[in-house]
Amino acid sequence: MKQERKFLRQCALCKAYKEKKDLIRITKDFKTGIIKINDNSEVKGRSIYLCNNETCLENALKKKKIEASLKTKLTENIKNELYTVLKK
Ligand SMILES: [Zn+2]
Repeated sequence: MKQERKFLRQCALCKAYKEKKDLIRITKDFKTGIIKINDNSEVKGRSIYLCNNETCLENALKKKKIEASLKTKLTENIKNELYTVLKK
């Protein structure tokens, strides 16, 4: 029987360690530079995790944490998409 291991990831903002399901994963595809949110396919690129709550998301956007980590510009579409993920 396969044992399920829990991988904890760290929120880039508050530094809390959480399970993947409690985090938003933002990945920048290293080939295309396209930003993917909670993409389950194995996108190769840099990823950043944030708590799935408004406080962390809002502060991360304010402090440009995501942009700094992924070395990219976030479009308004991506920002809106992040808030959509949050509401689920
Ligand atoms: Zn957090």
